[in-house]
Amino acid sequence: MREWEKNIRKVEPYVPGEQPKDKDIIKLNTNENPYPPAPHVKEVLESIRTEDFRKYPDPAADMLISAISENYGVDKNMIFTGVGSDDVLSMIFLTFFNSDRPVLFPDITYSFYSVWADVYRIKYETPLLDENFNIRAEDYYKPNGGVVIANPNAPTGIYRNLDFIKDILEHNRDVIVVVDEAYIDFAGQSAVSLLKDYDNLIVVQTFSKSKSLAGMRIGMAFANSELIKALNDVKYSVNSYTMNMPSILLGTAAAESMDYYNITTEKIIETRKRSAGRLKALGFECLESGSNFIFARHGRVKGTDIYDFLRKNKVFVRHFNAPRIDDFLRISIGTDAEMDRLFELLEGYLANL
Ligand code: PMP
Repeated sequence: MREWEKNIRKVEPYVPGEQPKDKDIIKLNTNENPYPPAPHVKEVLESIRTEDFRKYPDPAADMLISAISENYGVDKNMIFTGVGSDDVLSMIFLTFFNSDRPVLFPDITYSFYSVWADVYRIKYETPLLDENFNIRAEDYYKPNGGVVIANPNAPTGIYRNLDFIKDILEHNRDVIVVVDEAYIDFAGQSAVSLLKDYDNLIVVQTFSKSKSLAGMRIGMAFANSELIKALNDVKYSVNSYTMNMPSILLGTAAAESMDYYNITTEKIIETRKRSAGRLKALGFECLESGSNFIFARHGRVKGTDIYDFLRKNKVFVRHFNAPRIDDFLRISIGTDAEMDRLFELLEGYLANL
């Protein structure tokens, strides 16, 4: 071994879902929104002047934070933005999880959490979901170095109401509790309303899912102003210009277009309902989804077999080769036409077995 090799920060990286080049593929594998961003986003894009790219963007992303503040009803000093919620979550791990006690998050959840914990050398434990894939609040009552809950959880899609979140908060007054709400707009009430009662709560959201802007990389955290200051101190110690200029402008336009996004979100929820019904009719068990995807397994056919068949026919879904969930497929909700193609394929495949 060469001397420098032992000084490399080794880590098993997160594996993002595939982004195939082929345009014919029906992409139901990364929970993207099948509908375009709001028309106002396009208008603003067309007004961007490339000569302005000479200058650095506003490191505080003030325009974006003001627009989020107005449209989400949260004070400006309680908002932090980053390059997707991945960047926001990564900064949260780096800033707040420095205890000798382990951070807690479920065994089956967003698989990036354990990667950030590893890369920042943070201890963690992963209490098991119960047999119905629900998080058990009691598992989070013990002393810990912080708690991270995705609500709705991923990849299960299961949403828990605010009483459940309050229960976890009540038992964790002395540590930071992060609620990752990447999919909240497809589910129910946000924990943002609890911020006034819990100064240790951080709610994380994203513009990648319900706002159709995954490609722009915009995420945010809502928390009391002291926590936001701590996050900014760390951010300004790593990279001050995280939000690029087009993302600030287009994110602002998206935050001002809630009426449009309420309509596309409703459409996705309708398609999800119909799709769950059709999957069940084909013999799938579907976990109750509060997100823009369905986590489903077939009673008789292996997850990988269905995955391979769909892939050969240019429909990409996501499969996780992990204990307890390796028979499940995570199917993002596409347009009605895309879902029809999925069902046409599945019907043919399952009828011929
Ligand atoms: N949290 C959860 C639970 C997710 O599924 C995702 C999407 N992969 C993210 C956070 C990150 O999304 P983004 O960085 O695009 O905001």
